[in-house]
Formats: sequence, structure tokens, C-alpha cells
Amino acid sequence: MNVRRIAAQRCPALASTHPERSRLEVAGRVVTLAALSVSLLVLAACAGTNLGPSSVLVKRTQMQMGTLVTITSVAPNREAAQDAASAGFREIHRLEELLSTWIENSELSRVNAGAGKDSLPITPETMQVLEDSLKIANLTDGGFNILVGPAVDAWSVLDRQQVPSEAELAGIRPLTDLGALYLDKQRGTVRLAKVGMRVDVGGIGKGYAADRAVAAMKKAGATAGVVALSGDIKTFGLLPDGQTFPFGIRHPRREGAVLAFIELQNEAISTAGDYERYFERDGVRYHHILDPRTLQPARDCQSVTVVAPDGVMADGLDTGIFVMGRERGMALVEQLSGVGAVIVDRDGKVWVSSYLRGRVRMNEQGVGQ
Ligand code: ADP
Ligand code: MG
Repeated sequence: MNVRRIAAQRCPALASTHPERSRLEVAGRVVTLAALSVSLLVLAACAGTNLGPSSVLVKRTQMQMGTLVTITSVAPNREAAQDAASAGFREIHRLEELLSTWIENSELSRVNAGAGKDSLPITPETMQVLEDSLKIANLTDGGFNILVGPAVDAWSVLDRQQVPSEAELAGIRPLTDLGALYLDKQRGTVRLAKVGMRVDVGGIGKGYAADRAVAAMKKAGATAGVVALSGDIKTFGLLPDGQTFPFGIRHPRREGAVLAFIELQNEAISTAGDYERYFERDGVRYHHILDPRTLQPARDCQSVTVVAPDGVMADGLDTGIFVMGRERGMALVEQLSGVGAVIVDRDGKVWVSSYLRGRVRMNEQGVGQ
């Protein structure tokens, strides 16, 4: 998460009135940045604006999947734009009922409760997320692993905030073995072979939901839009004035600051960072992205932003690459077509992959200070 959508459209009626120092909302906070031409305040004022004879833009926000979901919907008329936004929210709600492990009788919760027992039938959507997760596990050389949930709990970064002992982690390690997760696509079943195993799609599910919501919006008649589950974002089409959708990437160490800007067209963007859910003990930062090999927080990056054709790819890869580290992660990105990354390494140095060079504009106020 954490790519904050800082602006969604140029709003001609308001752009000329915006102050020289725009107030930008980043990560739920309002900060002041100099000389920015668009802001969330402008965006909010534009929501529901008629942008010309053939396009209406609607923007709505709801709490879903434990986070703020914002849908921007562009369609030939207001009713179609509203219908498409509603279709997007409905789809995310449907997926939440399947995939959330916070919902006791969700499909994934039932799969987890059945660990160590028989195979269970699952819907094609859940099968798809699990298959995609295994593909990304493969690509990232095991860096991405949807079975780390029991270890994430042992760290309990947000609650108990304690460093688990090596013995405790050693007891958990067998539960994170992806070889013990069996998918039978033909029969549509899944089996977790060991008692205590648990699937956690926290590192990929929001990107998948963004993709599915976009599909639902298109079906309902939207011609363009953005689905943003917090910082897991998928865009489609162009703004009514023919422009691409602009975004800001958060600075991993300067709260509320934007590190860089990027524009997207029919692409997804997602960031994994060590700065949102973490605690510090004796000067060491412990955060929520674990290296499946050590079951310790991955140490090589502060943040990894991935741009990819689909949300599922961007979201899965950001977590996996965060674990792989800057060097191996960048080498992987350079091999994947249509995929780019901005990595802030452990020393705060920013690396931009070749696909994004020339597209990413660093925010001089946000860097090197
Ligand atoms: P978020 O957008 O919620 O910050 P990320 O994409 O950064 O999500 O993924 C972090 C979440 O993924 C963690 O909260 C945890 O549930 C899960 N996770 C932690 N480490 C890994 C890993 N190595 N592979 C897959 N998922 C992980
Ligand atoms: Mg992720």
C-alpha cells in the first residue's frame, strides 16, 4: 500500500484558483507542498463535476477490506458513472466476503480452519488469487509467501510488539512451506496439509480486488477510472481531458511528504514499505513484511513501488521484491515486460528501473533532506 493518490484530474474550473502552495492530503494527513498544480482539495471539489458534453466524473470513498477505498468513475453521464462506481464497490465487498481472514466464515477462513484435514472446494476467484500468489512466489524466489501469516502473528507488530524467540519462529517455519499447499484447479479444491497452516493474502488481495473492481466498472459502462484500495491502485482509460492519471509515491522516512510523481495509463501501482506498521526496540525497526527464509522483517529496503499492467502483479511483486532486496529485485523487474519499480534502499538511496526512467519525476522537496 502507501502509494497515495494525491490527485486524480485537472479540474479546469478550479485549477486557476488553487493557491501557489497547495495543501495536499497524503496518507490521511494534510501537508503543505510548494508549487504543485493539483491537490486533493481540488479533486474533492471536482467530484461529480460535469466535465463536458460527453463525460462525467464521480468520486466516492468507502471503508472496505479494512481500508479506505476510493473509486473515481468516468462515464458518458452521471447515472452511468454512479452505477459503475457502485458496481466497483459491490465487487470489492463480494471479494472481501471470500478472502478476508478477519471474517470468520469467509471462504479463506474456512480453508484455514480446515488445515491438516481434507481438501475444500473454493470459488474460481479464490483459486485465482491462490494461483497468482504461487506464480509470484516463484518469480520472487520465495520472497512472496502467502503462508507467513502465523509468523506475522508471532511478531504482532501492531499489538504485542514483541520480538519472538528463535525457538518460537523455528516452530512456525514448517507451516510456511508452500510445498504443503495443494491446489487442484480441475476439481476446484485446495488443501493445506499441516495443522496450523494459514493462508494470508494481505500482500496481494487488495491488488486483485482493484483489478476485479475495474472489470466490474467497465462492464457497467465506465470509460475510465481509478480504483484505489488505500495505496493499491488500478487505473483504466484517460481523464476526460485526455490526460493520464497522476499519482504521488510517499517518502518512506518523511511523514506526509511525496517522494516522486508518476502518471499512469491502464496500469496499476502499489507500494510495500517498512514505515506504516512497525515498532522500534533498542533502535531497531521491526515491521510487517517478513523474509520467509528467516521469518524476520526484511531488511534491505525502506520501500518498493511497483508499476505493472495489473493490480495483482503490482501488489504481489512489491511485497516479494521488498524481501528480495534492491539488487535481486531490480534484476527481476528488468526481466518483466510492462513492469517497473522505484526502490528506496536501506540507506535511503532511490533506484528507478529502466521502464520507469523518464516517467518518474522526483519531488525535490521530498528527497535528500
Ligand atoms: P499492505 O498494503 O497491507 O501494507 P503489503 O502489500 O505491503 O500490504 O503486504 C504486507 C502484508 O502481507 C502483511 O501485512 C502480511 O499480512 C503479508 N506479508 C508479510 N510478509 C509477506 C511475505 N513475505 N509474502 C507475502 N505476504 C507477506
Ligand atoms: Mg503487496
